[in-house]
Amino acid sequence: MKIKSDYSNEPQWKEVNVKSTLPKELACLDELAHNMWWAWNYEARNMFKALDEELYEEVGHNPVLLLERLSYDRKEAIVKDKKLMKQVNDVYKKFRAYMDVKPNKKRASVAYFCMEFGLNQALKIYSGGLGILAGDYIKEASDSNVDLCAVGFLYRCGYFTQSLSMDGQQIAKYDAQNFNSLPIERELDENGNQVVVDVPYRNYQVHALVWRVNVGRIKLYLLDTDNDMNSEFDRPITHSLYGGDWENRLKQEILLGIGGILTLQKLGIKKDIYHCNEGHAALCNLQRLCDYIDGGLTFNQAMELVRASSLYTVHTPVPAGHDYFDEELFGKYMGDYPAKLGISWDEFIGMGRTNPDDHSERFCMSTFACNTCQDINGVSKLHGWVSQQMFAPLWKGYFPEENAVGYVTNGVHLPTWTATEWRKVYDKYFDKSFMSDQSNEQLWHAIYNVPDAEIWETRMALKQKLIKYIRDKFTKQWLRNQGDPAKVVSILEKINPNALMIGFCRRFATYKRAHLLFTDLERLEKIVNNPERPVLFFFSGKAHPADGAGQGLIKRIFEISRMPQFLGKIIFLEDYDMQLARRLVSGVDIWMNTPTRPLEASGTSGEKAEMNGVVNLSVLDGWWVEGYREGAGWALPEKRTYQNQGYQDQLDAATIYSLLENEIAPLYFNKDKKKGYSEDWVKVVKNSIATIAPHYTMKRQLDDYYDKYYEREALRSYELQKDNDKLAKEIAAWKESVAERWDSIYVVSKNEDALQDLSTGHKVKVSYTIDEQGLNNAIGLELVFLNNAPIDDVNIHKVIPFKLVKTEGNNYTFEATFEASEAGAYKWAVRMFPKNDLLPHRQDFAYVKWIG
Ligand SMILES: *Cc1c(COP(=O)(O)O)cnc(C)c1O
Repeated sequence: MKIKSDYSNEPQWKEVNVKSTLPKELACLDELAHNMWWAWNYEARNMFKALDEELYEEVGHNPVLLLERLSYDRKEAIVKDKKLMKQVNDVYKKFRAYMDVKPNKKRASVAYFCMEFGLNQALKIYSGGLGILAGDYIKEASDSNVDLCAVGFLYRCGYFTQSLSMDGQQIAKYDAQNFNSLPIERELDENGNQVVVDVPYRNYQVHALVWRVNVGRIKLYLLDTDNDMNSEFDRPITHSLYGGDWENRLKQEILLGIGGILTLQKLGIKKDIYHCNEGHAALCNLQRLCDYIDGGLTFNQAMELVRASSLYTVHTPVPAGHDYFDEELFGKYMGDYPAKLGISWDEFIGMGRTNPDDHSERFCMSTFACNTCQDINGVSKLHGWVSQQMFAPLWKGYFPEENAVGYVTNGVHLPTWTATEWRKVYDKYFDKSFMSDQSNEQLWHAIYNVPDAEIWETRMALKQKLIKYIRDKFTKQWLRNQGDPAKVVSILEKINPNALMIGFCRRFATYKRAHLLFTDLERLEKIVNNPERPVLFFFSGKAHPADGAGQGLIKRIFEISRMPQFLGKIIFLEDYDMQLARRLVSGVDIWMNTPTRPLEASGTSGEKAEMNGVVNLSVLDGWWVEGYREGAGWALPEKRTYQNQGYQDQLDAATIYSLLENEIAPLYFNKDKKKGYSEDWVKVVKNSIATIAPHYTMKRQLDDYYDKYYEREALRSYELQKDNDKLAKEIAAWKESVAERWDSIYVVSKNEDALQDLSTGHKVKVSYTIDEQGLNNAIGLELVFLNNAPIDDVNIHKVIPFKLVKTEGNNYTFEATFEASEAGAYKWAVRMFPKNDLLPHRQDFAYVKWIG
């Protein structure tokens, strides 16, 4: 045998992490680093920074990585540094005091599901608004000390980081995260092994590792399929956020919904309410149905319990934005569920269709959410209305304005988004109860007691901080990617701290109309280069890698920013993340937003600006419709003037230019010679802090969810479950008996002659006799008057209920007496519906028969 020159096989590398040992005096740092509480407590962040300033920057402000990399010598030195040790111990004491408060069990308990959570830039499991909202929500749940836990994904790569090529092309880079260096922990079982959840995918299982993020007092569980228990086909399920094809998306949504519920079960967690933040998580209700059915209930009974305890929050204002799955793909993974549920395949997939019998319709996750959740809400008042209309085809017997779809306007977590400088001002001048009662406008009025000069100095300090941040962060990066050192340096040097600074930073989706400002470059050139009143714009934001138009917009803005007349006046900042956002929402003077109405469901970055005395200039869309107050910001008109989007864009652009030229810049630069600032501007800042900010805190949002949904659902669902689910069974049985007879219920006789000829001031009477086919007074009747044509999208003029006046065997006679109050042209018809006080609302059992 000839000896080979080289003979070896592939090693099976196993991951191991060597933990750095901390001296016992610093042991508390490990606990602090592994609780994201530091993300919204500046004393904690300052303390970590003080441990090693240079390293803190190097590790991207990630305390876990900081401790891992801290040198032996440095640790020794810290222990000997009395002042620093006091700082460490003070922070730890504060943390323990926060953590040791007993949980409040009085309010309903909640399990919260979302595809993304934006807690801090160190944990890349978010892409934008939705995730940051979810992150802010659980931080506030912690501060408000409610009983809530959350479920999401630990993405290997998360969302991409953005850089721009020399010519402004977006470059998307997906960096794998090293989980051991993140502020997360393995969720361990009683034997000290990491919990693994087995999730059924038709004929095999996917195994998800469970990680935990401590978010103050709240636990966020993250599922991770990137492990060697899974095939190469399934490991990527949690690789990236909104990446992959539709098949991977479906696999993700199975993992989040079904896997999420199985995770909570495995951990022994049961909550009153299950909240799907966006439709991605809706399959959690499928698993919950299966579990109730396994426990002995019928499908209809299980549905009563599942619906009663779940809430679906929609964030998307257009049907195209929802997730749809082809029947074939859906069947590939979900084929076993009809048997588990005891219904047919068509009935099952029909739960995700607007018209359940239409086989050409794909399965829509949002429709499934609507059908399995008792309550549905949009994220601002306007968006609630838009959602009512969007979902109207699901409840064909009712008009959009009658639907139970409600709203809770989004808010932001004040301690996360308020700059330390402002926190100090608030601490100094506001009542002590401020943080615990932060949505109380009265307390915010104390801003009027702050001297104007202090307001101005705080604003200026934050502008300087932003400029410094930009110079530090971008000089190196731009020299590397964008060449031309002279130009790069001059842009950054040219940033004029005295300019009126305007920020436009958000995802680059076309409906956000980032291009609006560039409609008339000549006019814009005059605005930014006005020697007395210079104006400067910062743009920042990512475009989805599949969105060519969005990337085109970025490229165009980049090109404009390199034109000589706009150099240092229009600046594009790459890689918008929470850190850059924090600097921008507190550092500019004006926060601008120009979406096409009504496509901005809420928007939250403008709310972050409010907490920092940064004034909004925005289209009256999303939250700003509710938020805008005269003298506290600027609004582009509400009504659409042109159907043609191009004309509308031109008009809106002209409005912005003229607001800047004639109102905003003159006000800002109307500086008092002696004082050096504009008193009128400070007034606007104060007004906006006092009258707008209090209404957009995350505390207000959380309280709204409790008041409008959680408590009410928890109470009803408790009643339904009492005595072995007695009421749930009763309601299901009642619905079944109504459904069986529905088509045979008929009108025996009627008298509606009076409706032929109505005049104001005259009482008329109409009556109907209905054969209820053995039902016991289960039918309601009402007379519906419509406007001849909808007025502002409102169809209904008036609804007049009938009263039951006589019962004879199966025959029920109803009468309505009324007086027409307004003359005009209307349409009328009579509507019959199932009536039962135990229903939460009509769409809970949306059988409707038009008669008469
Ligand atoms: C707040 C925030 C968003 C969402 O901003 P919108 O105004 O809702 O578009 C997106 N990205 C980051 C990094 C944010 O901080």
